Amino acid sequence: MTIVITNQPDISKGILDIQEVNKMNNFLINYLGLDDLFMCPHQDSDNCKCRKPKTGMLLTSIKKFNIDISKSYVIGDRKTDILMANKIKCKSIFINRKYSEESPKTQSITMPSFYKAAQYIALSKD
Ligand SMILES: [Zn+2]
Repeated sequence: MTIVITNQPDISKGILDIQEVNKMNNFLINYLGLDDLFMCPHQDSDNCKCRKPKTGMLLTSIKKFNIDISKSYVIGDRKTDILMANKIKCKSIFINRKYSEESPKTQSITMPSFYKAAQYIALSKD
């Protein structure tokens, strides 16, 4: 099962139109064959429960699909993704895209690409 959990604060900032983002999200769901996609449209100042590294979207997806987190991975390319995974003690894979921001230090493992992360999961026993 593959679920995308994404922060899109540009919606709340008025930079991106939510209907356009929903179109892009639907494209991703169909093109990638995702099981679901959860999006936080807020920015920090909205103080919502969903914006990563908060766990709102993650917990909602776990509940909706009755996901066993002991058999799951959070894959992300931002520190906030890894911190979110840490909060519920889910294994995490950091994709290092060499962004000019602080890298996380608490991920289970680091991989150079999403493809390599998917390979790692496919080959892991749990
Ligand atoms: Zn939110």
